[in-house]
Amino acid sequence: LNRRLAEFGTTIFAEMSALALRTGSINLGQGFPDTDGPEEVREAAVRALRDGRGNQYPPGPGVPELRAAVAAHQKRRYGLTVDPDTEVLVTAGATEAIAAALLALVEPGDEVIALEPYYDSYAACIAMAGGARVPVTLRPREGRFHLDLDELRDAVTDRTRLLLLNTPHNPTGTVLTRGELAAIAELAVERDLLVVTDEVYEHLVFDDAEHIPLATFPGMRDRTVTISSAGKTFSFTGWKVGWITANGPLVSAVRTAKQYLTYVSAGPFQYAIAEALRLPDSYFDGFRADLHRKRDLLGDGLRAAGFEVYQPQGTYFITTDITPFGEKDAHAFCRALPERCGVVAVPNSVFYDDPDAGRSQVRFTFCKRDDVLHEAADRLHRMAP
Ligand code: PMP
Ligand code: GLN
Repeated sequence: LNRRLAEFGTTIFAEMSALALRTGSINLGQGFPDTDGPEEVREAAVRALRDGRGNQYPPGPGVPELRAAVAAHQKRRYGLTVDPDTEVLVTAGATEAIAAALLALVEPGDEVIALEPYYDSYAACIAMAGGARVPVTLRPREGRFHLDLDELRDAVTDRTRLLLLNTPHNPTGTVLTRGELAAIAELAVERDLLVVTDEVYEHLVFDDAEHIPLATFPGMRDRTVTISSAGKTFSFTGWKVGWITANGPLVSAVRTAKQYLTYVSAGPFQYAIAEALRLPDSYFDGFRADLHRKRDLLGDGLRAAGFEVYQPQGTYFITTDITPFGEKDAHAFCRALPERCGVVAVPNSVFYDDPDAGRSQVRFTFCKRDDVLHEAADRLHRMAP
């Protein structure tokens, strides 16, 4: 392994999902639903396969049907006008979008600011691009995680090239507010920064939280690369269909990198996701309401079991603190959890540059069937502190 990647071994998700399989535990670690997405979308994929749509290399930027559907979705949900021919790029999941964007836009030595705790691929992709990662830490206050705008401002230097944002935020569940996003936009304009914003949980916001794409703020349309994914919105994480929207020159830059990573993304699923994006609002509302209920179900269970719970306003994750158990090492806690009660979770410590910062944080996902969440809550309750 070269020096750029030396610090990155196996991802925590692979480690913890393997542990769940090995021990037969309930896997609340890796975030993937245990119920597949809509039947009609699966049927659309079968039809595409059968009709020979996408069985050979599809167009590099993505099939026109999907690019049009992405553009229509941005218009319908956010009033954003996006040209499907020049301002959309289909990627192999959001993961490839993140990699291609960083490889295309970061010069070796550039500083990239990322919210910490950060999704693990951010650190690895910044490193592969030869960039220097500068974390700005979200800190818990009054039961949830907050961004300190002064810290963000102070993190910008003359070498800062890019802000790598994520809202709704994995793993904390924080959703950046209109005020926070406006301040970030002002900073980006003032310091002439590009922003890559990972909005894969755009449809998963709860209570009175609202997801507002950063690209809708003044001055941001031409300096923002917005990333999303069908994996999260339609519960098809195995299909690996993601996309970016940005202005023409930025899309063209990211496309250059994508060409040499995967060349194109798999064809038939793109046609199916084009249909998924055109589902009526009732689909998106129903999905959100379902996960809202599951958040409360698991949150109540975790509280009853003795965890300190940071209430998420978005995503399908809950970050907890294990201090009430008299434990301080999240990674050790997660390795022992299957033996203790047959549940798998993920330690947030791996999402920090300084593991001490997240030492006592453990993340659970609630994108599981109600009976699975009930059973997990019962098991955790039995080992209460
Ligand atoms: N970004 C974030 C914040 C995520 O949580 C995930 C999925 N776990 C991804 C990107 C990757 O998405 P995909 O599966 O579409 O590659
Ligand atoms: N995004 C999912 C999570 O945070 C998992 C994705 C992955 O395994 N890379 O759990």
